Amino acid sequence: MANGVTAVLEWLRECAREFDERLDELNDLDRVLGDGDHGTNMRRGFAAAESLQLSENARAFEALRQVGMALVSNVGGASGPLFGTFLLRAGANWPSPPSTAGVAIAVRQGLNGVVARGKADAGDKTMVDALIPAAESLEASARNGEDLQTALAKAADAAEAGRDATAGMVAKRGRAHLRADESVGVLDPGAVSMSIILRTAAQHIS
Ligand code: ADP
Ligand code: MG
Ligand code: MG
Repeated sequence: MANGVTAVLEWLRECAREFDERLDELNDLDRVLGDGDHGTNMRRGFAAAESLQLSENARAFEALRQVGMALVSNVGGASGPLFGTFLLRAGANWPSPPSTAGVAIAVRQGLNGVVARGKADAGDKTMVDALIPAAESLEASARNGEDLQTALAKAADAAEAGRDATAGMVAKRGRAHLRADESVGVLDPGAVSMSIILRTAAQHIS
């Protein structure tokens, strides 16, 4: 298949496997501060990747669009529409052929979509706290002329550092803000999921 769609499809299928394997971990994190369904939500949305049917010359955007739409329309709750928006916006800007500068733009556009929809600021203890450092890392890599594989590996590292920093934050968005005082010391489940999406990207996109 043309235009890097195979790699994007493998990336999305790897996400589906990860969300299947890590179902309990993500539900347990969400059970502390939310309603315990975050893993179930992510698994349901990404299951669409397993049954994707794409034509021979489909574009990468088509794979991201179909999984993004499944997240937006089949997953209730805050995270489905937000992760779906991330994939739709990143997909609409996905570079063909893939490049560091192009992926940096796609991820920044995905982040802009999530913020436009969810209004989260840095430090609110959400998925955005994993995504902002990843977008900034990709932009720095693009300026420095780094190849895409290196850039995505660094972006995944940055996302994981952002994920870990959510443990020290007080929740200001979503259900978790209702128990803001208890939120300190616990990782934000959406930030864990966002770092999974970026780590699997680093493993499959080059
Ligand atoms: P729900 O809270 O509706 O049950 P999930 O449990 O699937 O949905 O998702 C919770 C995650 O969604 C949180 O961990 C957080 O990362 C993310 N989230 C919630 N609200 C927002 C928001 N306004 N902006 C960005 N991310 C958000
Ligand atoms: Mg939940
Ligand atoms: Mg819920």
